[in-house]
Amino acid sequence: MSTAEGSDVAARLRDDLARAVEQRDQLEAEYQQCLEDPDVLQEDRDSVRTLLEGARGAVEHAERALQRVESGEYGTCSVCGKPIGAARLEALPEATTCVNCTP
Ligand SMILES: [Zn+2]
Repeated sequence: MSTAEGSDVAARLRDDLARAVEQRDQLEAEYQQCLEDPDVLQEDRDSVRTLLEGARGAVEHAERALQRVESGEYGTCSVCGKPIGAARLEALPEATTCVNCTP
């Protein structure tokens, strides 16, 4: 990455990814415990699994965003090829489409 702006984004996304991975691993361990413990209610097990699935999704999003930064596609709409607005990227770092192309 040649610009300072770009490396800031990469650093931020790497932080996001690290946090997401940490959270996913915690939930993964928690879910494993739930599976092994016969006293855990199915309901509780399901809610941990829902959280875990959300955490896995967050990891995937962060990984994808980071790949886009590294390949130089970050900040460019994957549909129309125009730049995604800075404000939008600020609010949603993993955005792959501009406001106009987002359903
Ligand atoms: Zn677009």
